[in-house]
Amino acid sequence: MELLSYRKKSKFGKERKISTESVKIMQQKTFPNTFNSFDTKKGRILITPHGPDPVFYGIRGENIDSLLYATKILKSDEKLDGYMIFKSNQGTGDHLKNELNFENMLPYASGNITGIVSNTPKIVKGGHIFFTINSNNHEFWCAVYKPTGITTVASNLIKGDKICVGGGVRKASKNFPRIINLESIEIITLEKNLSTTNPFCKKCEKKMKSKGKNQGFQCIRCGQKAISKTTNEISRKIKKQMYIPKASAHRHLTRPLQRVGLINKSIKFDKSLSWFCVYRN
Ligand SMILES: [Zn+2]
Repeated sequence: MELLSYRKKSKFGKERKISTESVKIMQQKTFPNTFNSFDTKKGRILITPHGPDPVFYGIRGENIDSLLYATKILKSDEKLDGYMIFKSNQGTGDHLKNELNFENMLPYASGNITGIVSNTPKIVKGGHIFFTINSNNHEFWCAVYKPTGITTVASNLIKGDKICVGGGVRKASKNFPRIINLESIEIITLEKNLSTTNPFCKKCEKKMKSKGKNQGFQCIRCGQKAISKTTNEISRKIKKQMYIPKASAHRHLTRPLQRVGLINKSIKFDKSLSWFCVYRN
């Protein structure tokens, strides 16, 4: 769930001022009952949106008490209008539950798709990774951006890996076809990473030389022969698991005011819970 605190109308569009220290302390005191509030590595506040929307901050958490406690720790001079707690999809990846396919892969759509990695991931300037997957005989481009922190996972993918990726579809640009901006990579099966090298002469501890195409190999020191190359398995650096971006790259999904009624229908909030409050100030 998420607690959204709302600004007074006069403050809409104005800079949000909140004590960084208080956000840090709030996270220390309430984590893991609240989450994704503060990026300790970068010292960045993750609860405040940056746009002109009426939300002052949004705290993601597990229960109402922890969310309310969190609001008491936060320090700001701005007088707020009130708060509302939503049963939200924060941290659940709900927006990626829709299954994407060739037909519904339209710009701005989001969801997940399972496929086989079909090319070797390329790293581009800035550290972003691009690769393709094949799903039901259609090829889809995937992009993993550096700030997500999962580019290392993407760069270690090889052709043949079966993965389920989640993300949003970006429309085609001049330089790129339609592409999925990845927000999650789940590795379903890993292909064996095999490399072949010239055979090794155990006696001389030297690599044999090729005698020409389809002619086999021979040790130049002792004359030992071998017919074919040696296959080595290179250990994979990624595991069969779900990889998601680090907290600082999470998209801040704020719940627009106009959806309040719609959401309330699906909430089973008890009347005794203080999920809604308008401040009297
Ligand atoms: Zn030899």
